[in-house]
Amino acid sequence: MTYDPNNIFARILRGEIPCKKVYEDSHVLAFHDVNPQAPTHVLVIPKGAYVSFDDFSAKASADEITAFVRAAGQIARDLGAAEPGYRILANTGLNGGQEVPHFHLHLFAGRRLGRMIAAD
Ligand code: 5GP
Repeated sequence: MTYDPNNIFARILRGEIPCKKVYEDSHVLAFHDVNPQAPTHVLVIPKGAYVSFDDFSAKASADEITAFVRAAGQIARDLGAAEPGYRILANTGLNGGQEVPHFHLHLFAGRRLGRMIAAD
């Protein structure tokens, strides 16, 4: 899939749409989900133009991948979620239920989340 530079997260990255930012560095932005599914629901996105986890894992540089993983863990710790725990999730493509075509990690925390998120 070709990257759509007008997807909603690309527009957030360009500052065209506001977000409730929780973290930013040269490779990564994180902000609260507009429709939270848990008491804490943060989206962690790379600044690079990657459609999905599939795209990011295949094409991102080692620096981008390291920065992304380190940031996601740090954000969870900063939110106080490392203990008692949290869930990270990356919906990928059609069958994964991905709606926004810019790679993002969901970070859910703040309550017992159960063993898995229920299917539709
Ligand atoms: P997906 O289904 O692609 O994994 O998740 C997309 C997520 O983006 C959804 O949880 C949705 O609530 C969130 N979202 C969609 N548009 C916006 C927006 O404009 N701002 C923020 N903060 N979150 C958004």
